[in-house]
Amino acid sequence: LPPIDPMDLVGIDEQFSAEEKAVRDSVRRLCHDRIDPYVADWFEQGRINDIRGLAKELGTLGVLGMHLEGYGCAGMSATEYGLACLELEATDSGIRSLVSVQGSLAMFAIWRWGTEEQKNEWLPSMAAGEAIGCFGLTEPDIGSDPGAMRTRARRDGDDWIVDGRKTWITNGTVADVAVVWAQTDEGIRGFVVPTGTPGFSAPEIKHKLSLRASVTSELVLDDVRLPASAAFPEAGGLKGPLSCLTEARYGIVWGAMGAARSSLSAALSYASERRQFGKSIAGFQLTQQKLADMNLEYIKGVLLALHLGRRKDAGTLRPDQVSLGKLNNVREALAICRTSRTILGANGISLEYPVIRHMNNLESVLTYEGTVEMHTLVVGQAMTGQAAYR
Ligand code: FAD
Repeated sequence: LPPIDPMDLVGIDEQFSAEEKAVRDSVRRLCHDRIDPYVADWFEQGRINDIRGLAKELGTLGVLGMHLEGYGCAGMSATEYGLACLELEATDSGIRSLVSVQGSLAMFAIWRWGTEEQKNEWLPSMAAGEAIGCFGLTEPDIGSDPGAMRTRARRDGDDWIVDGRKTWITNGTVADVAVVWAQTDEGIRGFVVPTGTPGFSAPEIKHKLSLRASVTSELVLDDVRLPASAAFPEAGGLKGPLSCLTEARYGIVWGAMGAARSSLSAALSYASERRQFGKSIAGFQLTQQKLADMNLEYIKGVLLALHLGRRKDAGTLRPDQVSLGKLNNVREALAICRTSRTILGANGISLEYPVIRHMNNLESVLTYEGTVEMHTLVVGQAMTGQAAYR
């Protein structure tokens, strides 16, 4: 038998086409050269050095809005997008968040719900990484129940006046454009807000112990006057923002397995080198049980992501299937990081290794884009036909 790849025990790699592997390898290369050497430092400092330069490099590679067609976007498959998310999150969930929010939330919102004018104005520069976008749904008092949002837009002649607060908004402080969701007399509508508009500000949220290599912000909208052309044409209610969240959650299904891969592979190489009681700790049965159990969950998670990716490419993926994938893969990735941490012993708590950084990051990923509890209820509803959120 040929030697087995310990990180691909069942040969999942064979399921990917040459093009898919080429996309994956190009993202992996960028991460390896441009992000991996610095990301622990960015996490420690709580700031991505030269985020604009990084956004442009990601744009040049074609990963921003990569699964969208036209307007300067790369038009790649959902599976290719998923593989890119996995590689980005193997580097850091914060970097994957930058790309997810740009491509799947801000760009997808404009691409799916915007006017031709809005698409032509924003999508080419966002795809190139020259303009950064954010997506404002969550508010200080409104998280899992966005239908109750308080941010309000009212008409004033042909203009709109938007008032409200958003919080926990990824990319907010560095964004050139914010997609903001607000209540109107016609239901919830989306607005494309250039961040230089008077009355708009986006102070950064400090003191996070998770996703430190990611900008997180409040959005303050005080009487922000927008032209009629800033509104998305349809008053779609929650359908608008939820359609974007399904896109971003799909990326997380893959991405979480990247954080899991990085932690598991760090644990495996550490276990092989670390010696106690005169032998390699990889030779102890308890260590092997951890490694084997983690690898099983990693393999199952990647297979689930791939299955959902193929469904998305076939146009048959449902939002509740994405919920199931997000629920499982983030939960299991977090468990893999925690177990990996134990294998590294005291070294596991150091930023010299990627494990505790991934573990802390995944605490955010478990909560954002729908909490683990909300996705559990979505799966429960799919099984029983009964909604238990209210
Ligand atoms: P809450 O909704 O208040 O929930 C608190 C707890 O109650 C959770 O455990 C929840 O599951 C539980 N709960 C709530 N309702 C129910 C129920 N019916 N049944 C059972 N349990 C329930 N938002 C954006 O709009 N844009 C962004 O770019 C963005 N980026 C983020 C980045 C980071 C780092 C973080 C941490 C969050 C980000 N968010 C963003 C916000 C995120 O989407 C919300 O935190 C998330 O939706 C949960 O809302 P909440 O924190 O207000 O929690």
